[in-house]
Amino acid sequence: MFEPKQGRFGVVSVDHKAGRSAAFALLNDEEVAPMPAKRESAFAIAQFQFDCAADLLDLSPCLRQVLRVPERELSVHFPVKRDDGSIMVLQGFRVQHSLSRGPTKGGIRYHPQLDLDDVRALAMWMTWKCAVANLPYGGAKGGVLVDPKLLSPGELERLTRRYTTEISIQLGPEKDIPAPDMGTNEQTMAWMMDTISMHKGYTVPAIVTGKPINIGGSHGRNEATARGVSFLLVEAARHVGLPLDRAKVAIQGFGKVGASTARFLHDMGATIVALSDSRGAIYNPNGISSTQVQRHKGLTGSVVGYPEAETLTNAELLELPCDILVPAALSHQITRENASRVQARVICEAANGPTTPEADAILHDRGRFVLPDILANAGGVTVSYFEWVQGLQSFFWQEPEVNAQLEKVMSTAFRQVLRTAQERNVTMRNAAYLIGVERVAQAVLTRGIYP
Ligand code: GLU
Repeated sequence: MFEPKQGRFGVVSVDHKAGRSAAFALLNDEEVAPMPAKRESAFAIAQFQFDCAADLLDLSPCLRQVLRVPERELSVHFPVKRDDGSIMVLQGFRVQHSLSRGPTKGGIRYHPQLDLDDVRALAMWMTWKCAVANLPYGGAKGGVLVDPKLLSPGELERLTRRYTTEISIQLGPEKDIPAPDMGTNEQTMAWMMDTISMHKGYTVPAIVTGKPINIGGSHGRNEATARGVSFLLVEAARHVGLPLDRAKVAIQGFGKVGASTARFLHDMGATIVALSDSRGAIYNPNGISSTQVQRHKGLTGSVVGYPEAETLTNAELLELPCDILVPAALSHQITRENASRVQARVICEAANGPTTPEADAILHDRGRFVLPDILANAGGVTVSYFEWVQGLQSFFWQEPEVNAQLEKVMSTAFRQVLRTAQERNVTMRNAAYLIGVERVAQAVLTRGIYP
């Protein structure tokens, strides 16, 4: 049973003092919610972040119980034929965190260190991310415990088609719509779309987003996350009084998001001083040409060894002198160990979960401006939404229209989060959570509990 406490539920109606004390929880282990331990799982971190928002919103105990766990979790084991004729049995997941605001949405990750708790956290983050951008979706995430770099294209295709079949009971344009994430790409989405279409006997383009353009993908989807990051950095730089054309930027990760972010920021006049990939980082305080690094990586397989820069570790990159730091790779990068040495004024979380709660508190204490993941990387799912809409209507947009609509969504979300942060005197992360969690909670309340 809910205890709706309607009058105390909304952001505006929450007692300001209570908000302040819950925000303070981020600064003091002893206050309000217990801090997750040092190497806590991503899901423990996601739940801690949710608890902070729930405290700020004075959410009823029943709503907390509903929202702090996923609605549905599917775990599958399935066989895949290797090229040499042998069989490997793999584990995969699809988790749907919340179905209250619409179909569920979120990527598919292929990674050898994935576990169910990671997928739960990523699904929950998708829920708040979609709500912050005000997209009519709940959050989901899926994945397979596998290193895609060790498989041939044929093995990857058989894996994808079998995994898609295993989780197909949960998928559908009106139910749950996957997209690319770490270790997957537009080819993976094409195989998923084809597999479901073969089962149905007709083509179902809106079953996935992030597809190739020739089978119903959207212009601008590939670079959407990076474009969203750069739109937000324009707003954030203006807010903190940092001229973007004099800003020095360090980017951790040179995948789809990191590489395109480097290019967009360079085009805006910023100086990219550091870049990295899984093998290491490169640094030149006078600037690095991301186009030349791309060429170098194409030839050698890594950014490391690029002649006009010194080589560092990924950890060292985070502590470099720069104005803007963009973690665009893995989670758990900025921790209680290194947060006090982060020099950047603005941190833009293009990756999911790069900052632990302890680090968050330290960064806040040191006056750093953090654009939290559920806001910072929402550009990808926003253009996924545009692609889904285009697919359902069979009416396709040109790229300038996609980018203009994306800019509108990102700058509206930024302004709403900033205003909430200022009005409630909370961090940008807490403000984004306040907005996201409240929108989902309101949907649950409005719909009521069935039966
Ligand atoms: N995997 C991306 C994310 O974490 C995109 C999800 C989507 O487009 O559905 O936001």
